[in-house]
Amino acid sequence: MPVVRDQAFLLKRAPYGESSLVVHAFTRQHGRVHLIAKGAYRATSRYFCVLDFFDTLDIEWSDGRGQALAILRWGTVLERRRTIAADLERYQAALLMVELTELAGRPDQAEQGLFGLLRTGLDALAAGAAPTLALVVFELGFLQNLGLSPALIACAACGLTAAPVTPDGLRAAFSAGAGGRLCRPCAEEAKRAGRRVGTLPVEILSAAQELSPRGAAEADPIPAPDVPAPDVLVRVRDLLERFLDYHLETRPKTSQTFLSVPNRNAPEPGHPGPAGALP
Ligand SMILES: [Zn+2]
Repeated sequence: MPVVRDQAFLLKRAPYGESSLVVHAFTRQHGRVHLIAKGAYRATSRYFCVLDFFDTLDIEWSDGRGQALAILRWGTVLERRRTIAADLERYQAALLMVELTELAGRPDQAEQGLFGLLRTGLDALAAGAAPTLALVVFELGFLQNLGLSPALIACAACGLTAAPVTPDGLRAAFSAGAGGRLCRPCAEEAKRAGRRVGTLPVEILSAAQELSPRGAAEADPIPAPDVPAPDVLVRVRDLLERFLDYHLETRPKTSQTFLSVPNRNAPEPGHPGPAGALP
């Protein structure tokens, strides 16, 4: 059986038998791999104390083609990130990054973009970045990696300017199903086509844009954006996780609690018309 070696992150871990583990790993060159780590709890095993979440691992496995589980042969930790588990908010942000990676990672596919995103996100958390900031930056990169970046400034449908649609000029039309922000004519058309169209604060859309990964064409050094206020970051997170929720059609466990409250970007109480509806 061919032996494969790659860098990896742990996605899932479950005990198996008396001393073994079944693990789902996300690797740089081979995507998602399901492994059995025999005797992982024995001090003599070749990967004792290696299989922890959030660490960058270097692992070697026998590629048993056609078998459900490949066999882990050896492993070591390239980078430990112990500080993540010491803080609940940081831990939950890291867990959500891992859960999203599990949803998007495919078996037998090089996923260097997604692998790099996860490593950068976990590094930021380990280095003490604000958890919501690290998470939002990860989610924007994650959406881009899937080819699902929401339109945040221009119209998702026609590419033209998408001016605010409320009389106060503070809210723009937005539809997850139509790809994001919309100009008024495209918003009306999306509604006629049966899509859900609401509104989002322009301030939150702009804040998300500021934190979005820059394209290659914009590789010139650009001053780092000012870090938005915590309440703005939380509302950007709300926008991104509802957008992800729509497109992934499954909600990561860590996201469930966060999204169990009403939309944080809904209009103020007393706003004319139904909450978030296109005026
Ligand atoms: Zn348009």
